[in-house]
Amino acid sequence: MGEDPASQVYVRNKEIACEACGIYSEKYALPEETTQEELLSLIDTLNKKSSISGILVQLPVPKHIDEETIINAIDPKKDVDAFHPINVGKIMVGNYDFVPCTPAGVMELIKESGIDVSGKECVVVGRSNIVGKPQAMLLLHQNGTVTICHSRTKNLAEKTRNADILVAAVGIPNFIKGDMIKEGAVVIDVGINRMENGKLCGDVEFETAEKVADAITPVPGGVGPMTIAMLMRNTVKAAIVNN
Ligand code: NAD
Repeated sequence: MGEDPASQVYVRNKEIACEACGIYSEKYALPEETTQEELLSLIDTLNKKSSISGILVQLPVPKHIDEETIINAIDPKKDVDAFHPINVGKIMVGNYDFVPCTPAGVMELIKESGIDVSGKECVVVGRSNIVGKPQAMLLLHQNGTVTICHSRTKNLAEKTRNADILVAAVGIPNFIKGDMIKEGAVVIDVGINRMENGKLCGDVEFETAEKVADAITPVPGGVGPMTIAMLMRNTVKAAIVNN
């Protein structure tokens, strides 16, 4: 909904990924002034439509729309973002079909790099429902010893310097510097921040961090593309679950 430029790029990239995978998709670019009732009515139609396996409402929605009401209206079996409380609860108990795309992408990067999480000190900076909280849970499921840090955390650098695996999901450009990272750590940068010069940067200061980290993800080109890949995976799973 609306004209958010970042959202428009994200939605376009998702459409391109669907085309590349051979997944049929429908896009509804709703004007900013669309009412909550109209949006709920569209979700209801798509919930009932058998040719649609997955539904995603690109966030953020405009201020007059209650985000929670919208998320709750999506059929949990079609909730490919895994934001519905039923899917959030399933992740908590460790028995889930859908995993939120960004934390799932982080886990896939770790797995494909041959990094074993078990017994490692994992520090997640950020506690959002979309990234930080589910990320911590997924690392815990892989037997990591997990610490969640946030805006009220005291002595943050002391915590991050303890991390074997450090996930930054803060939304502040270059927030994590090299001297906040343990020698040999795995550093995963979820942040996507647009600087004044128009360029994208992460939450980790790459130049100083890469000198101490054993493995590190770039921005752009790291977690971002993985998020879209995991959306495609969730959509295929949804097609199986719904048939
Ligand atoms: P958010 O704003 O909802 O949450 C940010 C978190 O950072 C909060 O939990 C807050 O407690 C914490 N924080 C803020 N200031 C802090 C400080 N000084 N010290 C420690 N913690 C602090 O953001 P979000 O939705 O979780 O997104 C985080 C970043 O990840 C953003 O840059 C966003 O654009 C990016 N993101 C990327 C993808 C992707 O596909 N790669 C997906 C989602 C979000």
